[in-house]
Amino acid sequence: MASLYEIPIERINGIGEKRARLYNKLGIVSVGDLIRFYPRTYEDWSKVTDIFSAVPGDVCCIKATLDLPVTSRRVAGGKLLATTRASDETAFVKLAFFNNKYIDSMLRQGSEYLFYGKLTDSSGVREMINPTFQPVGRALPIHPIYSQVAGLPTKQIEASMKHALKMLPETVNDPIPDDIRARYDLIGLKEALLKIHFPDSEDDVSQARRRLIFEELLVLVLGLSSVKNLPEKQTSVTIEKDFTDEFTALLPFSLTNAQRRAIDECIADMRKNKKAMNRLVQGDVGSGKTMVAAAVAYTCIKNGSQAAMMAPTEILARQHYENFQKLLVPAGVNVSLLTGSMTLKQKREVLASLEEGSTDLLVGTHSLISDNVLFRKLGIVITDEQHRFGVRQRATLLAKGKNPHLLVMSATPIPRTLALMIYGDLDLSVIDELPPGRQKVETFLIDDDIRGRAYNFLIKNINEGRQCYIVCPAVDNTDTGLKGVEEYAAEISTTVFKNHRVGVLHGKMKTADKDRVMSEFIENKIDVLVSTTVIEVGVDVPNAVIMLIENADRFGLSQLHQLRGRVGRGEHKSYCILLSNAKGEDAKHRMNALCRTNNGFEIADEDLRLRGPGDFFGSRQHGLPELKIADLAENVDILRSAQAAAKNIMPGYMDASAREYRGLRAEVKLLFGSVGTQLN
Ligand code: ADP
Ligand code: MG
Repeated sequence: MASLYEIPIERINGIGEKRARLYNKLGIVSVGDLIRFYPRTYEDWSKVTDIFSAVPGDVCCIKATLDLPVTSRRVAGGKLLATTRASDETAFVKLAFFNNKYIDSMLRQGSEYLFYGKLTDSSGVREMINPTFQPVGRALPIHPIYSQVAGLPTKQIEASMKHALKMLPETVNDPIPDDIRARYDLIGLKEALLKIHFPDSEDDVSQARRRLIFEELLVLVLGLSSVKNLPEKQTSVTIEKDFTDEFTALLPFSLTNAQRRAIDECIADMRKNKKAMNRLVQGDVGSGKTMVAAAVAYTCIKNGSQAAMMAPTEILARQHYENFQKLLVPAGVNVSLLTGSMTLKQKREVLASLEEGSTDLLVGTHSLISDNVLFRKLGIVITDEQHRFGVRQRATLLAKGKNPHLLVMSATPIPRTLALMIYGDLDLSVIDELPPGRQKVETFLIDDDIRGRAYNFLIKNINEGRQCYIVCPAVDNTDTGLKGVEEYAAEISTTVFKNHRVGVLHGKMKTADKDRVMSEFIENKIDVLVSTTVIEVGVDVPNAVIMLIENADRFGLSQLHQLRGRVGRGEHKSYCILLSNAKGEDAKHRMNALCRTNNGFEIADEDLRLRGPGDFFGSRQHGLPELKIADLAENVDILRSAQAAAKNIMPGYMDASAREYRGLRAEVKLLFGSVGTQLN
């Protein structure tokens, strides 16, 4: 199997340069990648209905003979429409195909086919539009359906897959050792690969899935636990004294108990251990994680080290920088900012002051991990909104010191069982309390019918001196058909909000422009900020009290919760208005969950329950490698087995000379990419 990752897919019959490029878009470069590209779902062609009994509106499989030759013509909009007719003993069905030049060479009058697709009824005539089909006798009972990109239909992928599977060697080395396979009743790798793509029965699919999910989770767990089992790192950073009381004296408020506890836990880690701190601080949006970070950094700095804090966006980095400057400069702490958009000269100055040690606290974006960023004595690395960073980025920043302490902060509320799995290598502090005086953000779900009332409500609040956000899902409307932020802002600023100041913010803007808009908003020079989700993470403007979200059904629950977290940050009553015209029960149910509770942990559980892990556990959210088949929330049972198996083989696995685990080690490397090398 391993060698197939070295064979480019162009070697498969029928894949030329052009198709190869489409495959690359799916992340498929080699034959091995292709074989590991599993079907998204299956079509079951084994249950054939007759045309008369098929229920209009249902997806079905019919067996019918073509009555007429295929005729093609151009229709409105320049589309090519091919039509024909087929019948069985009970009735006939009209068949229509759009934009398929080859259809007349694929379907012959008088031949019998299986047609699979949605059957509709158009004034008494049964129709199928763009059904898939196979000649009778050649049809497989169960068809794989692959995720596709334009120009690369699932049928084409299926055809290439057949070729690819033929390239598997007679015996495939199975990364899962025999004894584990026996103990957990798992089929072999080759059998699993053949069955996942071309199963003969549902049973085949479930056997193959179980085996492949187990393998993927085992590899994931091994990769993560080998980090945990690294020899305990001796840190070079000594923290003698706790400066938290000095820090709190700088604050205009007192810390909550939960903040104080998190800070104490961090400082205890750093003081008692020769081992570097490795701690995750998890707290709902608005729980005040930034102050925890600042307090911990303060103690490190006062003990003679430098601190680095990495944030996922420029807006957030700048906001932290400005806050820390205000707070810490009077206490003699030198704060600097480093982001990609700064001029070379500005960067050089910061880098120089960092290297000579006059910068105590460096705040920035991903730029912090560039090679030319050198510290004199890096004592602690802090990453804000951890879920936005990968394991690798975290490691790169850490490597800039001599085993510095690590503090990661995340608002993504992950159910505890999964948090331990994902952040298995970290200790956990939870901030389970909001600063006093916070009021619940009232949340409403409305549709277009009362949009006017919603706008009036915004205006009323603006007239009282407050500010509002309006979030749209798209920057522009080319791909999505949704109104883009620019267009939206232009429209409202000449109509409903013509007497108010409307600003626009999105990720494609130049940094200087983003900064300008953001500062204007902070200084209350903008009343309504129309934005994409760039404001989702961390932005803190307490005077903003309404968050109106357009097409709210387009967002995941956890993301909506994050967006809502931008309001309700000050003394004023705050509101979140979810605008959605989605009629589906599912969408309504999801958004009502948000109206019901403000608790991020409850929402995370609800999100999980309602729609599985979705984007919430997508790799983007937590920096884990992307899983191909396993689903961390759904496959909890298999995950437990895999964890147990991993625990058992861990000692042998860590012994690099053990041949038995070579296959698994290779898979770990593959899954974690270059992170894998650090893990092994
Ligand atoms: P998050 O946990 O989402 O990162 P922030 O750190 O941005 O939250 O804090 C949200 C707001 O609460 C900020 O305006 C911050 O100044 C304020 N805040 C933080 N801690 C306290 C506290 N103990 N008392 C009052 N306000 C606080
Ligand atoms: Mg924050």
